[in-house]
Amino acid sequence: MATLKQGLDKRVSEYDYWAKRRQHGPEGHNNCSLWVLACMDERLPVDEALGIHVDSPAGGGDAHCFRNAGGIATDDAIRSAMLTCNFFGTKEIVILEHTQCGMLSANAHDLEKYFRDKGIDTDNIALDPTLPELKLEKGAFAKWIGMMDDVDEACIKTVETFKNHPLIPKDITISGWIWEVETRRLRAPIVGVGAEKRTLIPDVTSAPFGVKSNQPPRWK
Ligand SMILES: [Zn+2]
Repeated sequence: MATLKQGLDKRVSEYDYWAKRRQHGPEGHNNCSLWVLACMDERLPVDEALGIHVDSPAGGGDAHCFRNAGGIATDDAIRSAMLTCNFFGTKEIVILEHTQCGMLSANAHDLEKYFRDKGIDTDNIALDPTLPELKLEKGAFAKWIGMMDDVDEACIKTVETFKNHPLIPKDITISGWIWEVETRRLRAPIVGVGAEKRTLIPDVTSAPFGVKSNQPPRWK
């Protein structure tokens, strides 16, 4: 039978390796060799939805997790995925979006107007002041915001974007999932034929939010 001292020796050395993982490159990958892209929404519990431990309890570390508005492919999401997939040993990407997303709640053109009415020139915005080379073409601001008409459609397009991106290795496993906030249920995204199988939450579009016109064509 192992002594407590032996158990503690093992625990201390394992924790030490965990703390210094990034010094080991791909060999020091996170527990699941996994990168998660999830919406920032407070009602989307990444650990519960995926059955993993991203950052709790201390010493967890199943995945690298990137959260943004919508859980969509943006330049910074691609930058983060590029780093973890090529240099930190990540072998799998999971995209996690959800029903009742705030990105369904308004039309991006109206959001752009909000800033224009305040006198902000949305055609000349420093997206990242530390990288002034990163620029939007004139008229692209509303599209950049990334509001959605349909969360299932956005999830599928986000998966495709990572699958086709030249900075993401072709052998990475990539999947997308929808968390139903109302029922705490995870399901695959569905569009077109079969969309009625969104059985519990049939309407995941912007319509219930009163959005009447289509978003700028980011997902088409
Ligand atoms: Zn959301």
